[in-house]
Amino acid sequence: MISIGLQTAAYLVAAILFILSLGGLSSQESAKRGVLFGMAGMFIAIASTMLGDHVQGHLYLLIAIAIASVIGIIVARRVQMTAMPQLVAILHSFVGLAAVLVGYGSYIDPHAQALTGSERLIHLIEIFVGVFIGAVTFTGSVVAWGKLDGKITGKAIQYKGRHLVNIVLVLISIALGILFARASGVSGMNYLMLMTAIALFIGVMLVMAIGGADMPVVVSMLNSYSGWAAAAAGFMLGNDLLIVTGALVGSSGAILSIIMCEAMNRSFLSVIFGGFGNTSGSGSQQMEGEVTATNYHEMADMLHQAQNILIVPGYGMAVAKAQYPIYELVKKLQKDGKKVTFGIHPVAGRLPGHMNVLLAEANVPYDIVLEMDEVNPEMKDTDLVMVIGANDIVNPAALEDEASPIYGMPVIEVWRAKKVIVMKRSMATGYAGIQNPLFYKENTDMLYGDAKHSVDELNKLY
Ligand code: NDP
Repeated sequence: MISIGLQTAAYLVAAILFILSLGGLSSQESAKRGVLFGMAGMFIAIASTMLGDHVQGHLYLLIAIAIASVIGIIVARRVQMTAMPQLVAILHSFVGLAAVLVGYGSYIDPHAQALTGSERLIHLIEIFVGVFIGAVTFTGSVVAWGKLDGKITGKAIQYKGRHLVNIVLVLISIALGILFARASGVSGMNYLMLMTAIALFIGVMLVMAIGGADMPVVVSMLNSYSGWAAAAAGFMLGNDLLIVTGALVGSSGAILSIIMCEAMNRSFLSVIFGGFGNTSGSGSQQMEGEVTATNYHEMADMLHQAQNILIVPGYGMAVAKAQYPIYELVKKLQKDGKKVTFGIHPVAGRLPGHMNVLLAEANVPYDIVLEMDEVNPEMKDTDLVMVIGANDIVNPAALEDEASPIYGMPVIEVWRAKKVIVMKRSMATGYAGIQNPLFYKENTDMLYGDAKHSVDELNKLY
């Protein structure tokens, strides 16, 4: 057993480790160190909480932690890289659910019931707000999981007057909160349950209203909500570390959401409130021109002739696990004195940083992995662009078609290069479900097939 003083000191160390962890995650070189800091912080946090003087039932806690750890290890080992976004979304839902359960637990806790006056009032507000945020996070994350997993349509489901309905529901929740705070004993349970039902509904409606192309922001926004839900649970439990950790996750998630909104040219408020001013059309642009296909031999010739080559990976590279053979090919091209770079769009794949993680996995050096803003100005001087399993992030409709759902989103402007080869299996659309005029451009050829298979073939021929 450890004293409160020692526990507070341990919490401080854990909080510092969490901050160092976030700092480490800001660059690929230091990311591993960041993860280790986070693991150490979490270990200290759990151990010092469990060993606290007031904690009882250590055996049950240990059994629960052991079972959860085994489940966590199995899930993390089994999950495919392509299913990672869904996993992240469903994990956020657990945080939301935990905040709801902690709220109900705190409400019926006899110690909390013994509180009086302003102390009781503050505690009841903490519970009410915590349960509200937790419930919105819970259902919002479950819907996000469904959308990312393809179980729920990626299209924005919106009905007229939904913003008004949401505002009325929030006002009703506030009124319920006042009744809840005034109720004596545990007689406010009905108000709490009614508000929970409303918050669960709001969570569903908020995320349902957001269309496919805005999902990256939703994922990082739910990450932020889950942080605030954890912070709220920290207030309810009087646990300083949980408050600090929740606030760190909440604010870093919010900052990431703002950065992603800027990258996608979306208004932050429109995304938080669920598709304000979202265009739900699927684009009006008629496809002009003809689709032309190429083959491995021609492609190998193009590689021989090109000096300056840009590779733009997308979600399909993750599906095909093509990052390894691509790097093999890159090494051969570099050996022949060619300049080869990767261009990464901020929302390529299905997770922020998805492509960077895959390329790092295949040991691609960081200095040839460039951001969209770095490759776009160089596009005119690029001889050949290999688009590998990407679609939405290279769609010219984002710049040309005002009716397109992705209109306004900056994209990698590959069509301005001398030659573009798009490597994918068919003419199918990407996540946003819209046609891509790039495939019809004169300087673009399709190389059909699974990305890994195609790159393997090129490796044989080059
Ligand atoms: P897209 O989803 O637009 O396109 C991926 C393409 O990959 C598909 O058109 C598919 O075409 C092709 N593909 C799939 N499997 C293979 C394979 N085995 N081999 C070769 N090609 C394959 O991906 P992008 O990366 O271009 O864009 C990301 C999209 O995801 C954006 O709309 C973004 O908003 C959204 N999103 C991003 C998130 C993030 O945080 N990054 C989170 C949630 C959504 P075909 O079937 O013909 O092969």
